[in-house]
Amino acid sequence: MKKVIILITLNIFFMAIAGCNSKNSLTKDGFTLNDSGNKSTGQNINQNINQNNNIMDDHQKKENPYYSRTDISKLDVPDSEWIKILPPEVYEVAREKGTERAFTGKYWNTEGIGTYYCAVCGNALFRSDEKFASACGWPSFFETIRKNSVIYKEDNSYGMNRTEVLCGRCDSHLGHLFDDGPPPTGKRYCMNSIVLDFEIGDKQESGK
Ligand code: FE
Repeated sequence: MKKVIILITLNIFFMAIAGCNSKNSLTKDGFTLNDSGNKSTGQNINQNINQNNNIMDDHQKKENPYYSRTDISKLDVPDSEWIKILPPEVYEVAREKGTERAFTGKYWNTEGIGTYYCAVCGNALFRSDEKFASACGWPSFFETIRKNSVIYKEDNSYGMNRTEVLCGRCDSHLGHLFDDGPPPTGKRYCMNSIVLDFEIGDKQESGK
């Protein structure tokens, strides 16, 4: 019971300082419904994020036969295969539509020039100059690298009507799209850090 009270207090505190128009709330089972609208819990998603910023390290990528930063062909890999390949934390968000807790992901306040790739398949998703500080606690972008970098799906879960954003190559869940972003698009791609891979570099991936 004490744990639940502490979790609730922490979530209220985090969202109070976030100052964004989120729809966060706690469910009866102790999950957090966040701005992205997915359920999350610090116990099964976030505990290791800050301790290990390289969950999908180079060694693991070599064991992922579908990971490629050059091949943009569409993948059709079942979850029964992904679960054998992906780290559990990545699988939970990418394939089960989980959400990391606000202000805990590795990229929510990342700066620097580079490219953000899908951590599941290597598909180029966003450039750093398309990222902005949304103050919501999740990495946010106003545009994708290519029009088909991502695909969209209507999401009516949790009594809300939202637009889910999935990787255009592997169909993994990335986050949600909102209409409260900055110019020039007015869009906010609210993403989960754990399904992103940031590669620092002067030469950003170009897809347009
Ligand atoms: Fe992908």
